[in-house]
Amino acid sequence: MGLSKTIWTNPSEYLRVVTPENPVMFFSPAVLQASARRFLDGFPGLVTYAVKSNPEEVVIENLSAAGIRGFDVASPAEMRMIRRLCPDAAMHYNNPVRARSEIAVAVGLGVKSYSVDSASELAKLIELVPAENCEITVRFKLPVSGAAYNFGAKFGATVELATSLLKTVAAAGFIPSITFHPGTQCTDPHAWEAYIRAAAQIAADAGVTIARLNVGGGFPNHRLHGVVPQLDATFELIDRVTGEAFGDDRPLLVCEPGRGLCGDAFTLATRVKALRDDAHVFLNDGVYGALAELPLVGVIDRIAVISPEGARREGTEVPRIVFGPTCDSVDRLPGDVLLADDLAEGDYVVFQGMGAYSCATNTRFNGFGELTIATVLSLKL
Ligand SMILES: *Cc1c(COP(=O)(O)O)cnc(C)c1O
Repeated sequence: MGLSKTIWTNPSEYLRVVTPENPVMFFSPAVLQASARRFLDGFPGLVTYAVKSNPEEVVIENLSAAGIRGFDVASPAEMRMIRRLCPDAAMHYNNPVRARSEIAVAVGLGVKSYSVDSASELAKLIELVPAENCEITVRFKLPVSGAAYNFGAKFGATVELATSLLKTVAAAGFIPSITFHPGTQCTDPHAWEAYIRAAAQIAADAGVTIARLNVGGGFPNHRLHGVVPQLDATFELIDRVTGEAFGDDRPLLVCEPGRGLCGDAFTLATRVKALRDDAHVFLNDGVYGALAELPLVGVIDRIAVISPEGARREGTEVPRIVFGPTCDSVDRLPGDVLLADDLAEGDYVVFQGMGAYSCATNTRFNGFGELTIATVLSLKL
């Protein structure tokens, strides 16, 4: 028996040697740790990780090794996992709607920060959570665009309601803070500007000095060749606008990126099951699998086609209709996908920038969805 190889040089090597039949997520710890360092070095405040975007334990462990000390959690299962893997990390329970039993779990695990966007949920927190040394963060929303889809559709108080909630938080003896989420894959830094200025107005109108301002997730990852995330410019804008808007009452800053941290650390390899009548490409993964997010957030164009021998297909790119493996007709990637015209059955279609909302939302619908995670030194194909 020989040694089994567990860390691969790059995706092409794995595809050539293993020729996998099922989808594979290639994970680069080096890329993930570099993303973490970019946030830790550049963001002017505390960097926490939104666990839901990719809750794989290797992701949590590598972020922790890189220096991430706080996590945005939304459920008892996420809280228990973080306590197990990172016992000393801060947990921010920022799902604004919780069952009483879930609040009890959080209190038992020592959670000291909760977000809220309604009077009824705030009343529950005041009843069930000891106020001492505990933060309640009021989440508000604005009608601002710039993100891939609207996060305000579900959560976030109006500015007026947020003002009244903030007063109640302070009067109940909790540490008052404010938060917002500008929407995921937010490529327009100015969305943050509008939110930060509105947060300062809410605090002023409530007559409350806030301890912290949590500027959310929403930081984009690299999905389109022509749209490279402007993280440093966004950090600089957040820092400057916070100073301008709050003046002497400047709060500490917190961010809670999901996608911005994990998105570029994974590359997905899918296999061409069939090229039907030279028109339709059928992959072994689709919208019920790791590609679940594409119809919601939009296509990724960082795509390459690789032969089973590991060679890049270099043909002219032509638009194709691409289907997933299930028998459901919605299992189709949005629009046309540009793919090399020498693509053949058995080739691999490889999507970069696939780390967020992929591993966690993959399902076993129709018996598909057997997803392998392979660790690579480099994601260069
Ligand atoms: C999902 C979520 C995030 C992470 O969002 P990204 O767009 O992935 O950065 C951050 N905060 C809260 C409250 C969330 O629900």
